[in-house]
Amino acid sequence: MQERVAHILKHHQLRVTACRKQVITFFLTQRHAIGHAELEQELEDFDRVTIYRTLNTFLEKGIVHQVPDDVGGAKYALCSDDCDEHAHQDNHVHFKCVECHKLTCIEEVGIPTITLPEGFVAMKASLLIKGVCETCGITA
Ligand SMILES: [Zn+2]
Ligand SMILES: [Zn+2]
Ligand SMILES: [Zn+2]
Repeated sequence: MQERVAHILKHHQLRVTACRKQVITFFLTQRHAIGHAELEQELEDFDRVTIYRTLNTFLEKGIVHQVPDDVGGAKYALCSDDCDEHAHQDNHVHFKCVECHKLTCIEEVGIPTITLPEGFVAMKASLLIKGVCETCGITA
């Protein structure tokens, strides 16, 4: 795990700091998207500003991407290796479970191309699907 964390930081030319290390470790251990509040709770050694800055750096460098949510603030999830500081490649669908409320990246499903009326230029698209996740579906 520590090796993977160090590799991610090095790959994006970032210095290793305690906060950065812990944020990435938390992302790696969670399979769902994480919001500010959850991160602050998990990383109690660091103040909000440090966590906020770390997330912003990760967003800029292509380590995490923003995940759309229908309620509450922004959520974040780890990017695939294709993202860098120039561009994010997170053109995948996100899924929100109505039972456990977890937001998950569905990396194997891309967002379909949508044809817009003339004069409209698309720059970014996000698709949030709501339903029951595989974990909740089994127990229900
Ligand atoms: Zn990305
Ligand atoms: Zn669920
Ligand atoms: Zn995602």
